[in-house]
Amino acid sequence: MNLRVCPNCNSSEYIKSGVINHRQRYRCKNCNYNFTVNKLGKKIDDYYVNKALQLYLEGLTYREIERILGISHVSVINWVKKYNIKRPYNSQYHPTYKILNASELAIFFQSPDNIKGAGVVVTELGDKFMLIKWERFRE
Ligand SMILES: [Zn+2]
Repeated sequence: MNLRVCPNCNSSEYIKSGVINHRQRYRCKNCNYNFTVNKLGKKIDDYYVNKALQLYLEGLTYREIERILGISHVSVINWVKKYNIKRPYNSQYHPTYKILNASELAIFFQSPDNIKGAGVVVTELGDKFMLIKWERFRE
């Protein structure tokens, strides 16, 4: 596994930017943050593996997971294979999702219409929260 994302904004868009103390340095194309590979510990990797598999189980596509987490869909496909993850339900079904901060989340839950007739799950995503909503029983 060779997962690298910007530790500042989680973007996977970065370029090589010199070598410092024998370590390759990268510069994020999204936020210009400089980082070296060794700074990205295994803990961060595990965090994103978990998140990616969670989203996969919620019914999101590989491309959506790539867009949300900034992780290559190839990595996600590899993890799904590695951990032998199978989605138990019909692939026709697809949840909707939003990325919200804490106060937007509070506002969302204040409106009964937003949670009525649906299921909602909230998962932490970096400094924000992802809200996944099911409406499969609403025909
Ligand atoms: Zn960045």
